[in-house]
Amino acid sequence: MEEKNKERRVPLSPDLLRILACPKCKGDLTPCHLAPDVIEGLACPACALVYPVREDIPIMLIEEAVPSQAWTAGARSAADARDA
Ligand SMILES: [Zn+2]
Repeated sequence: MEEKNKERRVPLSPDLLRILACPKCKGDLTPCHLAPDVIEGLACPACALVYPVREDIPIMLIEEAVPSQAWTAGARSAADARDA
């Protein structure tokens, strides 16, 4: 029997990072490291947006992206950035 509810974490591997692209401009993304082995966001320098990574899952949605400036100021979600 198939286990459907089993939580499966997909680590952000270099291979995965290579195939991910900015949903807006299709450009390359730069990982934002919280620690050497922890990536908390994927930045698109061209769009000045950071796509948050939550529990190892990159949120590749333009409406969820955080402007780079807000990210640097500590915002980790689009809602944070709007409140700032
Ligand atoms: Zn982009």
